Amino acid sequence: MPMKRKKDLHWGTFLAAVASLRKKFPTDLPVIVRRQKLEHNSGYCTKKDDKFIIKICNTLDENTQVLILVHEWAHILAWDADGGDHGPSWGKCYARCWRAFSEDF
Ligand SMILES: [Zn+2]
Repeated sequence: MPMKRKKDLHWGTFLAAVASLRKKFPTDLPVIVRRQKLEHNSGYCTKKDDKFIIKICNTLDENTQVLILVHEWAHILAWDADGGDHGPSWGKCYARCWRAFSEDF
């Protein structure tokens, strides 16, 4: 039996995953997501002025890009508590994002 997908949420493509995260886990500040060639990173996020920027290496396959996106989104949700670290708040946010991803995919 094929897996049932929810109609309003799709994570199957990178852009759909971005839309799902924006909808399910809104952020206080705007988030810009860019895919580009990165030499030493698979992806990272930074806070610049009044916005967050997520950069993800565009030479990775799309599924991997989605996984990195979920990881980076959790950093933004936990930014006030943990900054860019993998601290306890990041862990909780990552779990919430991962759970949503797992339930909706
Ligand atoms: Zn990280």
